[in-house]
Amino acid sequence: MKGFAVFLDVDGVLNTRTTVERSPEGYTGIDPLRVKVLADVLSKYQGGDIILVSDWKNMRAEAGDYAYLVSRLGQYGLAISGKTDDNGPDRGAGVTKYLEEHPEIKEYVILDDNKFDYGANKKNWDRLLLTDGIEDVSYASKTPAVEAMLFYDFIRMVG
Ligand SMILES: [Mg+2]
Repeated sequence: MKGFAVFLDVDGVLNTRTTVERSPEGYTGIDPLRVKVLADVLSKYQGGDIILVSDWKNMRAEAGDYAYLVSRLGQYGLAISGKTDDNGPDRGAGVTKYLEEHPEIKEYVILDDNKFDYGANKKNWDRLLLTDGIEDVSYASKTPAVEAMLFYDFIRMVG
């Protein structure tokens, strides 16, 4: 869907603590089947932008692990469209700033396994899906936004 974006964390979304695969630099790797879930959900939206909120965004583009992330996403036709800019614990503020700078994004969800400061902004909070691996998803908010509910249902459908 034109104007739709997913703000994507990586650790805890595309992997879990039980993930066996390692990245080239020895960190927890990325599970292809979880990337596939994301790709299948996005295809139900007829596409959408992927904006990195994960700490993986701070890696240099030429870093081995960054190339690995790009390649893992690419296996299922996904690409990173942008990255938020924050200091780490203020990821929600990074999302809000990104949205201000990108008015073309009309609808979005946030996939993260941590709450960080997302609750400081109700719009972000209502669009936050908490994960323990992308297939295991729950609402952060008691009043989730429609796009969060749709995304949640699509994950249930394909996950
Ligand atoms: Mg995480």
